[in-house]
Amino acid sequence: MSAALYDRLAARLGPKGWTRDAQIIAPHLNDWRGRPPGATPFLALPATTEEVAATVKLCADAGAAITPQGGNTGLVGGQIPQGEVLLSLKRLNRIRSVDPIDDALVAEAGVVLAHVQDAAAEADRRFPLSLASEGSATIGGLLSTNAGGVHVVRYGMMRDLTLGLEVVLADGRVLDALKALRKDNTGYDLKQLFIGAEGTLGIITAASLKLFPRPRGRALAAASVASAARALQLLEIVKTRTGALAAFEIMNRCIIDMTLKNVPNARAPLPGAFPYLALIEFEAAAAEGLRDAVESALGEALEAGVADGAVIAESEGQAQAFWFLREMASAGHKPEGAQINCDISVPVSRIPQFLETAGAAAARLCPGVRIVAFGHAGDGNIHYSLVQPEGAPAAAFPAAALSEAAHDAAHALGGSISAEHGIGVTRKSELPRYKSEAALAVMRTVKAALDPKGVFNPRALI
Ligand SMILES: Cc1cc2nc3c(=O)[nH]c(=O)nc-3n(C[C@H](O)[C@H](O)[C@H](O)COP(=O)(O)OP(=O)(O)OC[C@H]3O[C@@H](n4cnc5c(N)ncnc54)[C@H](O)[C@@H]3O)c2cc1C
Repeated sequence: MSAALYDRLAARLGPKGWTRDAQIIAPHLNDWRGRPPGATPFLALPATTEEVAATVKLCADAGAAITPQGGNTGLVGGQIPQGEVLLSLKRLNRIRSVDPIDDALVAEAGVVLAHVQDAAAEADRRFPLSLASEGSATIGGLLSTNAGGVHVVRYGMMRDLTLGLEVVLADGRVLDALKALRKDNTGYDLKQLFIGAEGTLGIITAASLKLFPRPRGRALAAASVASAARALQLLEIVKTRTGALAAFEIMNRCIIDMTLKNVPNARAPLPGAFPYLALIEFEAAAAEGLRDAVESALGEALEAGVADGAVIAESEGQAQAFWFLREMASAGHKPEGAQINCDISVPVSRIPQFLETAGAAAARLCPGVRIVAFGHAGDGNIHYSLVQPEGAPAAAFPAAALSEAAHDAAHALGGSISAEHGIGVTRKSELPRYKSEAALAVMRTVKAALDPKGVFNPRALI
């Protein structure tokens, strides 16, 4: 039956639309985390919505499952097949329209985020989603994981930035909900079902995205603080005094040192061995007055002893150097040996408590463990990694117990075990521990209604 399906798919997709060549397929099977590679008998590379729909219909009729893939930057394994047909959206890469009056841009699922940002800028607009993988991550993947990044504190997540979607359903029909409306109260907001669904409910083929005016005033500051609690006091000062906060990121000492050690050209914006660095971005409609407001807020923080040092980037080059340290944080701790990588969120006010309780639990379970904490503190999201003690054998690293303890600590504080990366395959077994039975039952009901044959990403999420 499989051979017949592959023949039908090949005939429908044409010579450029598929491959079974192991060498071409190989990069699609390895993820950024370096987990064991996946496997697929067939890579489908459709170039249009109609070809996606035909692929889905042929697979569904043959009882074959599909794993969708965009830029393959996902961190929880949901895009890596284990025997399913792999459906790459990379050839759906057109920007269909940019409309500055509607403040809307329609992009196909395979368009890379950086290209959307560029197209918005050409129309004197801004698409504000920004993350370290923006040169590879695609609109379809970003929607399917409801990606966040550094500007959530001002603009929200992918869910908040989307006006409409075009989706191929499990029977091959196309749901055209690609409207560019700000207001549409005609029933269930269907697009939201597919955002954050990790490819388990449908294949997103295009999206209508919100554009924003380009801020004329921008400033980036770095500040050193003595603790996470001080970082939150600083957040309060810069937020309320300037009204222009666009990003508030933190890095603890451990991740600063690892990044300086492992990433060539990484530099710290401030001297000294301070415990935490805050990277703070500001945006305003006009340039006038912004620098004064930022200086005054930082001055107040320094005078009150909230911050111990502060600097404002004096040029675009210096701003990029500040951001480089933060953006390279994931690459900074990756070479340090056995580790677990959590992506937790808690209410912003509880970040210090989380770091305290999770850190104490980790130290009990694995004396000498190295604790990496960095990320989007302004919206309560910490990338929290526990790395094997220096020189200790990797085999002795209690990964599962450490992961559970960190997740338990976040959960106990009203937090989440996945702030922005999703559940995928790697966190799936943990979901029942942290989601209520009622929530899981609703999720299973939605899955059964939209994908009764289990065609889409059967190993991910639910
Ligand atoms: C260095 C680095 C930094 C990162 N920083 C951030 C960050 O700050 N914030 C953040 O949120 N994430 C971050 N990520 C994670 C990652 O970039 C996001 O998860 C991104 O949204 C994935 O996009 P992608 O196109 O690579 O999707 P993929 O990795 O290909 O797929 C991700 C998931 O979406 C599904 N999928 C893909 N395309 C479609 C489609 N068209 N229709 C239906 N399902 C689909 C896949 O099956 C999979 O489950 C980072 C990753 C790296 C490597």
